[in-house]
Amino acid sequence: MDRTADFRALCRRHGLAATHQRQLIYETLMSLTGHPSPEMVYERVRRKIPSISLATVYKNLHTFVERGVLREVSLHHGSLRVDANHEPHHHAVCMKCKSIVDIQEEALTPIRLRGAPPAGFQVERFAVDVLGICAACAARSHRPRKTASPFDHQS
Ligand SMILES: [Zn+2]
Ligand SMILES: [Zn+2]
Repeated sequence: MDRTADFRALCRRHGLAATHQRQLIYETLMSLTGHPSPEMVYERVRRKIPSISLATVYKNLHTFVERGVLREVSLHHGSLRVDANHEPHHHAVCMKCKSIVDIQEEALTPIRLRGAPPAGFQVERFAVDVLGICAACAARSHRPRKTASPFDHQS
């Protein structure tokens, strides 16, 4: 597998110039599990390009989202989080710590609109945010001692 050729093809499909820097940002993102913030991507990319700035990482992630290469996790999250999971899926979002966990699409289907969408509105996909309190936050608010949770590191 030629990763550079793959990345070039991906960029071509989305009308994007394939630069080395952009490729590194993309590959770093894909190597991180979950829904990394621009800061998390930046911390990693900096190890390979020490001169890179957070603003550059931010700008590139935005471009990826704008061109449809990557998906923004949730428009309601309040900060940019990008998704390395390209399969259609939904999200459980903790209202306290903002951690995000994937919910498989099958767990929520079928989702359909009852009645028509607003006039002229073209539906592309459904993205459901299930809001709540994650196990770690629930444990923290009930007991003073720290409880390990499988959701702790999946934000
Ligand atoms: Zn939480
Ligand atoms: Zn996701």
